[in-house]
Amino acid sequence: MSPLLIPRPDRIRMSPDRRGAGGFVLDSRSAAGFGRCSLLLAAGDFGSGGSGGKGMAEGSVTTEYLIVGAGIMGLALAREIRERDPSARVSVVEKEPVPAWHASGRNSGVLHAGFYYTSDSLKARFTREGNRLWRDYCRERNLPMNPCGKVVVAKNEDEAEGIRELKRRGDKNGVEVRIVDEKELGEIEPNARTAGIALWSPTTTTVDPVAVARSLAQDLAARGVRFFYGTPYRKNLGNRRILAGETVFSYGTFINAGGLHADRIARDFGFAQGVTILPFKGVYLEYEGASPDARPVRTNIYPVPDLAQPFLGIHFTIKVDGTVKIGPTAIPAFWRENYAGFSRVDLRDLREILGWEARLFAGNDFGFRDLAFSEIRKYSRAYMASQAKALVRTLDPSRFTRWGRPGIRAQLLDTKTCRLVSDFRVEGDRESIHILNAVSPAFTASLPFAAWTLGRFRSGEGWRP
Ligand SMILES: Cc1cc2nc3c(=O)[nH]c(=O)nc-3n(C[C@H](O)[C@H](O)[C@H](O)COP(=O)(O)OP(=O)(O)OC[C@H]3O[C@@H](n4cnc5c(N)ncnc54)[C@H](O)[C@@H]3O)c2cc1C
Repeated sequence: MSPLLIPRPDRIRMSPDRRGAGGFVLDSRSAAGFGRCSLLLAAGDFGSGGSGGKGMAEGSVTTEYLIVGAGIMGLALAREIRERDPSARVSVVEKEPVPAWHASGRNSGVLHAGFYYTSDSLKARFTREGNRLWRDYCRERNLPMNPCGKVVVAKNEDEAEGIRELKRRGDKNGVEVRIVDEKELGEIEPNARTAGIALWSPTTTTVDPVAVARSLAQDLAARGVRFFYGTPYRKNLGNRRILAGETVFSYGTFINAGGLHADRIARDFGFAQGVTILPFKGVYLEYEGASPDARPVRTNIYPVPDLAQPFLGIHFTIKVDGTVKIGPTAIPAFWRENYAGFSRVDLRDLREILGWEARLFAGNDFGFRDLAFSEIRKYSRAYMASQAKALVRTLDPSRFTRWGRPGIRAQLLDTKTCRLVSDFRVEGDRESIHILNAVSPAFTASLPFAAWTLGRFRSGEGWRP
């Protein structure tokens, strides 16, 4: 339970529990010599009063602020509370043994610049500032960054209009972006290919998201925030008390930053009515074996996205160490934690999500059927590499040999309109706050998003839609 014993999520492996409790053993060995920790996660832990598990906190805890989830949003909210009120008691309950085990540690690691979003959105409001704050943070903490920028390229003349629209949005959002011609594009990224014009974003930067989240969690622990890992939220007991793991937590303010499970937790408090999370899986392919000089690209290269969808299309991401990956896909997942095979399968989830997907597929709402068909094809390495190849002059697709760690988007669906919710959403009242739809670029936007959320809470404005 020590906050300093934080192994990297990518060094954790999961295996079925051999003790017959129907759960999974998370087994973590940190290369940094933190030693080994393991705990039992029982099946059916989420709000339905599943059986208890070893390694969880017991007894009772009283705290002024109780946060569910040690992803980047939970951590950013804890940081904001600490900034505003250094003496407040703040506790974070997290079902996994480490911070950022889910989306926050499984994303592209891109600090977005903020030009995709319409100026009236929360995404537009927080992304530019979040990009700046995280770059400052990484500099202060000596965390690796790759300030390689990004180009958005057009495959044909029609897409050139998409480039101009992104430039208009960037200008409105106060983001530094420039339209460049093919010659200038060649100077920025010689291998990029475009039809006429491209968009250059110099402030787009890549970071190691696991290192960033782990660093922030360590800062917070050092500043007195209490972390309870391996402690899943189970249910709302009423009178400002919840059960998490085997512990009753009494709180002044409850903050739900539960990512893929945030809608269910919110419903226990009377929120998230008329919405549900639809999981979309993002998988990556990594370019292997090339020496630094032989890497195909050095700048992030993105296609013009379909602005009607919240996904950006297959693109090249340059990691902090310069290695290259392509992805992520946006494949409809069948349950919330549907990372690989049948691991973490949840039958209630499977039933509900398959039900929604069947309905959206039949009606082709928001183009879901077309999206599903085109995304499923990306399980083929050759097909995925061919999508990336369209963005560059030369590429050896056979080098994309290794699948990277998949991540799952906690995308909110409006169940009345059968449309995906595009902007971040927060609901809550004087007692509880629920972060819903913290989809991309919520990693980038997390610090100003957390500040805005706490500000509204303090002023009593609330968010009930
Ligand atoms: C494939 C992919 C690529 C992305 N790329 C980018 C990018 O390049 N740049 C960017 O800015 N954003 C990106 N994003 C988005 C970004 O990763 C997310 O917006 C962000 O991580 C959301 O953070 P979060 O804290 O809300 O969720 P999470 O990271 O999922 O954290 C939620 C936490 O709550 C915990 N939890 C859930 N239920 C319970 C419970 N019952 N009890 C206790 N704990 C619980 C979970 O274990 C988890 O740790 C990407 C996302 C994906 C999936």
